[in-house]
Parts: sequence; structure tokens; C-alpha cells
Amino acid sequence: MPTGALILALLLAQTAPASPQAAAPAEIRQSPPAATGSVVPAPATAAAAMPASPATADATDLPAAVEAVPDPGFVLLGRRVEPGTRTRVNWRSGATFIGDPMQVPINVVHGAKPGPVLCLTGAIHGDELNGVEVIRRVLGALDPTELVGTVIGVPIVNMAGFSRGSRYLPDRRDLNRFFPGNPNGSSASRIAFDFFDQVACRCDAIVDFHTGSFDRANLPQVRGDLRLSRVVELTRGFGATSVLHTPGAAGMLRRAATDAGIPAVTFEIGAPVRLEPIEIEHGVSAIETLMNNLGMTQRVRQWREPQPIFYESRWVRVTRPGMLFSDVKLGDRVRQGQRLGRVINPLNDEASELVSPVRGRILGMALNQVVLPGYAAFHVGEEASEAQVIRDAARTPAPNEEAESMDEGVAAPLEEGSTEQVEDYTPESEPE
Ligand SMILES: [Zn+2]
Repeated sequence: MPTGALILALLLAQTAPASPQAAAPAEIRQSPPAATGSVVPAPATAAAAMPASPATADATDLPAAVEAVPDPGFVLLGRRVEPGTRTRVNWRSGATFIGDPMQVPINVVHGAKPGPVLCLTGAIHGDELNGVEVIRRVLGALDPTELVGTVIGVPIVNMAGFSRGSRYLPDRRDLNRFFPGNPNGSSASRIAFDFFDQVACRCDAIVDFHTGSFDRANLPQVRGDLRLSRVVELTRGFGATSVLHTPGAAGMLRRAATDAGIPAVTFEIGAPVRLEPIEIEHGVSAIETLMNNLGMTQRVRQWREPQPIFYESRWVRVTRPGMLFSDVKLGDRVRQGQRLGRVINPLNDEASELVSPVRGRILGMALNQVVLPGYAAFHVGEEASEAQVIRDAARTPAPNEEAESMDEGVAAPLEEGSTEQVEDYTPESEPE
């Protein structure tokens, strides 16, 4: 069976129940997260109806079963979207200081034919802009009369952070470590809860857009917990895009989603604060390829390398303080032992070199800046087969925990002298 048909089968298998409102958010939010790495979600989640083994899904039976149910329209946040139309609804995300609700626009394109619900979320970190534009372009180009299924686009989840040009919520909390949230918790926790309950739980698959954090840039790359077969299926759909295994720490949207049985990945694109046309175009092409592979659209994008490229990765850290000057560019292929950059101390002229520990590709890197020892400067990926990456993912519980924590918003283990200590949110200070 082609990959696309299989993915569609998996997603439709979840949407097959008679009511498109089959998700049970009230139950999901009260379910404790499943254990890390659990493929089968805890009972009483929306995904309880999913086949335990994806291999049992049979694409040939599904369309007829779905078409037998007349489409009553797609309801989100109390608004009904008729088949073959699009609309914009507002999600109320907390309140401003003067008491007005913070309105976050969400675009819904409900296709003329039933199918999976794909959610695209951006700017959970308010200063990460590339994904905002990817989502705008993807949603704008969709034809609801041709679309199979539904696409929900939330270009700016963290509107408060975005409007201030900040990664964080106004209280300095990182929204991407509070999912699935708590209706009685902190401001961040309530916002996370409401979004997860009202929007995320309506999705059959979620792609959450991010960029590198703190003056780092990432080659476009999909990150997911490759110990979960349905996440692996999803990562196969993005065309010629790098794929990394990162399990996802507690509090991330994608982790909360997979704990609730919804396959979800992070799509890292470029650097924060900037709008980068080449990276944005890659993101648009990848999502259009994904929708095509999911059977939602007919358009076929042309890729020179149509297959995803799986990587094992490691970070190269700064050993001496100073000013970082890179020798390499994002995406460069490097040799083992090749110099990646130098750190020059302006006070005593001392220079130290950073070299690649492996033959690989620069998947992420710091922009030239002042650095302290321990700062993660280069993220080098070694190409590996999908099977190898999945095997290693199963063996090592959290090989990239720290790498993703830097980009996706969970505090890294603190190291003396590292800039993460200064910039990352410290979990110990969170009262919940
Ligand atoms: Zn981010």
C-alpha cells in the first residue's frame, strides 16, 4: 500500500465514527498523560477507538463507511462550517489587562468530502514567525470545494507573546510546557487547557511550527517521537524534509497530543524573529506534500528528493567564552574533524575551535554572537536509515531531550555557565 494511502487509512480510521464531534475533550483533559512511549493511548481518550495496530487499518473499506454518513458540517468553538466552505472563528485566549478577551483568529477550511482533520499551529513561541506565514499561505491556497477533510490553521497561538515580539507569555512563562493545561492553574496553564480542549482535541493530526531558539537557526526539520508508529507514519508524509527523533518533554503541545492519541510533530523552520522566504517556501511545499500524501488534496509538488531524510544528531558545544564566528552554513555537509567555527575572546585574544565530531550535515546552528562555555553552537546530523533511527529511538529513552528543549521550549538541564541557564525558563520556579 502506498505510504499516502496508509496514512489516510490511519487518520480516517480515527475519524470513522458517525459523529465528526467524536472527540471527547472533557474526558481527555482529565486523563493523566500516558506513560512516555506508550503507543496505545490510555482508555477514555478520543483515540480509544483507534486501531491498536496501524497495520490493521484497511484503506479500501474506509471511504464507503465515511460517505454513508451525511456531513453535518464541522463545528469549532460553536461555529458551524458547511462542507466545501471556509470560515474564520475566534478563540478567546485569556484576557488583556483591561479585561477584553484576547481574540485569536483560527481559519477553518472544511472540505466538500469527509476526511482527516489536520491542524497547523504556529507561534506558540510568540517570536517564531516563519510558521505563521507558512500557515497563512497553505490555508490561503486551499480550495474547500476540492479538499478532502478539514484543515484548521492557527497561525498565532500565543497572541500575547506575538504582539510583544516575545517568545513567552506576558508572565514569562513558556506556553509550550503547559499542555494539556489545567482550567484552575496558572494563566499559562489555563490558556493551554482551553486551546487543547477546544482546538487540539478536534484534530486527527497536528503539525506545530517552531524555529530555533535564542539566536539559533534550524534547517527545516520535522521532529517527533519515532517510538510511536502513528507519528512515524506522519513524518513520512512531508516529502524531502529532515526527520529527527525527539521524544518530546512533558508540557509540549505535541507531547500532550500524542499522549491523548493524536499523532503530532514539531516542524522547525529557520530562526526566530525573522521571516525567511526560502525556509517558508520549504514549509509550504512540505505541508502541501503532506496533505497530498494524506489524500486531502490532488496537487503534487515536485521535489528533487521526494523522500524524508532521517538523522541521528548531536550538539557541538562551546568550551571557551568569547565571540562565535561560524565557518559553515545551515545545511552544509561537513567531515569528521572539520572546523565548524571559532570562538575568539576579545579580552585576551584567545581563540578556540569547534570541530565536527562526525561526518554529517548542519541541521541547526547558532548565529554569530557572544557565547559562554556550554552554549550549544552546532547541531550536526548523521544521515541514517529510517529503520536505524527508529531502532535507536526505542533503545535510548531521550537522546535529544536537551536539543529539543532548547528549541521547543522546555528548560534544559542547567549547566553552570551555559546561556541556557540565563535564558531558559526554570521549571523549579513553577509552583504547579
Ligand atoms: Zn518554538
